[in-house]
Amino acid sequence: MSVKLGRILGFPIEIDWSWFVVFFLVAWAIRDGLLLQLVPDAASPAVLALAGVTGGLLFFASLLGHELAHCWVARRRGIPIAGITLFIFGGVARMKMEPDRPSDELRMALAGPAFSIAAAIFFWLVWGAQILPALWSELARYLAIANIVVALFNLVPAFPSDGGRALRAILWMWTGSLQKATRTAAWLGQAAGWGLVFLGVSRFLMGDWGGIWYVFLGLFLQNAAQIALHQTQWRRAMRGLTVRDLMDRSPVLLPPGVNIREAVHEYFLRQPAEVLPVVEEGRVLGMVSVASLRAVPQERWDDTPVSAVMAAVQPELYVSPSQDAWEALSGVRRPANVPLLVVEDGLLIGTISQETLARQLQLRMRIEA
Ligand SMILES: [Zn+2]
Repeated sequence: MSVKLGRILGFPIEIDWSWFVVFFLVAWAIRDGLLLQLVPDAASPAVLALAGVTGGLLFFASLLGHELAHCWVARRRGIPIAGITLFIFGGVARMKMEPDRPSDELRMALAGPAFSIAAAIFFWLVWGAQILPALWSELARYLAIANIVVALFNLVPAFPSDGGRALRAILWMWTGSLQKATRTAAWLGQAAGWGLVFLGVSRFLMGDWGGIWYVFLGLFLQNAAQIALHQTQWRRAMRGLTVRDLMDRSPVLLPPGVNIREAVHEYFLRQPAEVLPVVEEGRVLGMVSVASLRAVPQERWDDTPVSAVMAAVQPELYVSPSQDAWEALSGVRRPANVPLLVVEDGLLIGTISQETLARQLQLRMRIEA
């Protein structure tokens, strides 16, 4: 679940709801910090609350700047960006494809932390100049520290963090093999993740509740490293392939007239997909999911046609057979069980679903290995 914020420099920005937890924690920590330090003009609760919220917003702007720096360098290097998402562990710049040259990856990876360091220096100077009232100067100092922490945290060489990507780029330059570099970087990323889990558990056992945070972060890191490794392998397996090469040429299609009982017994239970397109004479009318069928009471299954429960197809699910397979698959954000629909001259000629895709790629890797 996320909120779309519009575009900055042309990049679509989204905030996941989990980010609001961070905002609240940051605002609260700033308020508490200012209160504890007895900053002279921090007497009124309203002013403190305002400082907390302002700090939260400026921290948010700092993170956004960090991600925008990644995206800006990526665009200059010809790597398309799908957008930026901020969530509980920071931000991600979603790339439509990975860089082809290690020097591009290195520049992109370091752009974010470089921005954070620059922001830290800026806030540090604002604090040092003492031109603002004491409370707001103090806030600037907090933001300087926060940006340094963001920079250092991202520079930890745990792929796919910024530091991990930079390390991979260096290994890539050194060995000349993206595969080898990714494996090593992802292994280090997983090791770092498990290390954090271990640290968190031991702190928790010593009575520090904050240890739980490390456990979650560690699990997140090791999971991210694993996903990044798989993605690199898949991307390699898909190199040079088009949508036509990978699509299922004879997918199971639902005619609009069949009733729900028939749809369940003759279609859904006879194949692995959970979402099927409804098609009449080659034209896609909609999609039906197992969940939408279950919403209809069983006694009405015989006289309800599937066309009554089908959902409209989101336009981004349509792909063309000549499109690059990796770009088509990584460019669309959709639930894993929803297939891509391959359409030529307005007619459905195939689908790409998770099940058939995984089988196809594994087969290809086995045959070509
Ligand atoms: Zn970053």
